[in-house]
Amino acid sequence: MNSITPLLGLSSEELTRWVIEQGQPSYRAKQLHQWLYTRNIRSLDEVTVFPKSWREQNKTPVGRSTIALQTPTPDGTIKFLLALADGQTIETVGIPSDNRLTVCVSSQVGCAMGCTFCATGYSGFGRHLEVHEIVDQVLTVQEAMSRRASHIVYMGMGEPMHNLPRVIKSLRALNQEIGIGQRQLTVSTVGIPGKILDFAYEHLQVTLAVSLHAPNQTLREQIVPTAKNYPYADLLADCREYVRTTGRRISFEYVLLSGFNDLPRHAEELATRVKGFQSHVNLIPFNPVDEARFDRPTPKQVEIFRSTLERAGVAVSVRQTRGVDQSAACGQLRRRAFLQAK
Ligand code: SF4
Repeated sequence: MNSITPLLGLSSEELTRWVIEQGQPSYRAKQLHQWLYTRNIRSLDEVTVFPKSWREQNKTPVGRSTIALQTPTPDGTIKFLLALADGQTIETVGIPSDNRLTVCVSSQVGCAMGCTFCATGYSGFGRHLEVHEIVDQVLTVQEAMSRRASHIVYMGMGEPMHNLPRVIKSLRALNQEIGIGQRQLTVSTVGIPGKILDFAYEHLQVTLAVSLHAPNQTLREQIVPTAKNYPYADLLADCREYVRTTGRRISFEYVLLSGFNDLPRHAEELATRVKGFQSHVNLIPFNPVDEARFDRPTPKQVEIFRSTLERAGVAVSVRQTRGVDQSAACGQLRRRAFLQAK
């Protein structure tokens, strides 16, 4: 930890070490923790229990972003565009329901995976997010929506497994410093060779959501370019190892693209792949993206696909798309703001 590492995301032990390094008594760490995570401070200067002279000298950043834009939707979902310290922007979404607030966080600025149905994929890769920039997204949504987050999904911009060390540290911070249960944390991936196993051996109790999006290698390579380096059978073998190591079931994500991967024969083939697997399939009707050549399937197409899987004994559900008219598809808000600024 160097002197300019932002404070957000540090573990309690690291915070205690930092406080002592700064010449303050160790009990100040507990106070600082409370001000960071429950009083939502943006600068150390706000921590009025600390001596004024010390606050005036200490320029260590807290690590908070600012809200550049927010788009509320009629169903209560709010999509935020957040400006980071270096001027980069990322998207975060707060999705409320009766008894939960789910926050969908980004793990990178942009994304290197280039999936052909995804607005973020068209923006290219910017950089990895630091731990404090991931944790900040949760605090920002909690503050703006005046509710505590109950569930976190790493399904915003970026491929979490491409930024695995920081993602793992942020998961620990959300669990230990903010108090969100590990089982309420979900990490999504399109799969990078070796990373699912690295993640499994961390022995966290979080949910792994694997974006399959196709029933076979040939179709998958056409929409997830990085799948060329990760044969379908190897991906599924790593998923089985994840289940064996953690005891957690896998969630398979499947975006339904009209006429491309949503026919009954695709559902039948998918069923043969995931049947007998401790897993659940989440179907996501495609959210239109300006650049992509795909269409959204009709509700009838979605239902035929779902019921075909169900008849084959696969646990399956259809994810409700929320805020679809408000640039809500992954990466669209940022891309639209970027294009308007050009
Ligand atoms: S779908 Fe996910 S992994 Fe693929 S380009 Fe978009 S953000 Fe990246």
